[in-house]
This record gives sequence, C-alpha cells and structure tokens, in this order.
Amino acid sequence: MKLNQQNYLVIDLEATCWATHDESVYPNEIIEIGIVILSPLKEELWRGGWFVRPTLSPILSDFCLRLTTIKQTQVDEAPCFPEVMDAFCAKVEDITNARVEQAIFVSWGNYDRRQFEKDCTLHGYSYPFGQHQNLKLDIMRQYNIKKVGLDAAMKLLDLPFIGTLHRGVDDAINISRIFQRLQTTY
Ligand code: AMP
Ligand code: MG
Repeated sequence: MKLNQQNYLVIDLEATCWATHDESVYPNEIIEIGIVILSPLKEELWRGGWFVRPTLSPILSDFCLRLTTIKQTQVDEAPCFPEVMDAFCAKVEDITNARVEQAIFVSWGNYDRRQFEKDCTLHGYSYPFGQHQNLKLDIMRQYNIKKVGLDAAMKLLDLPFIGTLHRGVDDAINISRIFQRLQTTY
C-alpha cells in the first residue's frame, strides 16, 4: 500500500452575507480564514486564523454580524485578501516545509474552495491550492446518506461541537476532528 506523504490543510471560511441575498448585487467576500494543518498521519501541526477586510462591501450586515459573531472592528483592522493570503501561504509553507499546492485542501463541502476561487479572481491573486478533498462527500459516501450538515456529522460520530459555530478557526477544528475519524481508503 502506498503511504500518503501529503499534509492536510483543513480550512473553513466566513464571508460577507445578508439575510436575503442576490449574489449579482452583493458578491460574498471572505472575512475570516480558519485553518488546522495536519501531518500526513493526521496529527495536528498548527491551528490559527486571519481576519480579512472585505473591499466590495466593507460594512458587515447585521445578519452577518449575528451569524458569525465577527465584529466590524475586527475586519476594519484586518489587511485585505492578497496580504492575508501572502501571510497564510508563508505560514503553511513554514509549517509543512512544502508549497501550499503540495498539501491536500480539505473542507466541508465545496463552498470554501469556490469562495477562494472567487476572491482570488476578484483580487487577481493566483489560486494557491492543489488537490481538494470534500469531506462532506466522503462522509455521505462512507455512511451511505444523501444529506448531512456539520452538526449532524458530529452527532453521527459522537463528537461534541467545540467552540462557536460559524467561526473560521472553530469550524476548522471541528471539521478536522471529523476528518481525523474518517478512514480514508480511497
Ligand atoms: P459556515 O462555514 O457554515 O460558517 O459558513 C460560511 C459562510 O457561509 C458564512 O460566513 C456566511 O457567509 C455563509 N452562510 C452560512 N450560513 C448561512 C446562512 N444561514 N445564511 C446566509 N449565509 C450563510
Ligand atoms: Mg464556518
């Protein structure tokens, strides 16, 4: 059997949002990046997060403030996406000793990958990731179920949710705990 040599980047994003939403009027932008870096054996190497100052809609809606618990001042004081991504990539490369694209980007569903693609396009920033693993799909396959939310998956695996839902680092920590339980055989 071939042993996996790749590190894992378990990432969860928070983005600008509104109660009623028209993507063509208000494109969502990343406001927080949470990450847990895991070794090829799924041992935690580092965890952390960054706030990002959105440029298209710099004022967070009341809905977004309530959903995410992120404060207006936290994004006001944050750097914009390209600067945060430079810091993010430097941290990942420092911890993993390899380029970002050599690790496996793990997220709950495809939302986070797509949101990265959108923000990279918006800012003309080169998308830095390589292979992506959709953990939600893996859980649905493994348990032969058609739908599953993060909460439901945690219950299924008998894992209590730690921290605050809809916060980048806390969500990433909980997603990484699901991932550590998953027997990846494909
Ligand atoms: P999550 O990782 O589940 O916290 O969600 C990531 C982002 O998706 C949030 O920061 C919001 O921008 C958006 N989002 C999540 N849940 C909702 C919701 N119920 N209504 C509108 N936007 C949402
Ligand atoms: Mg989240």
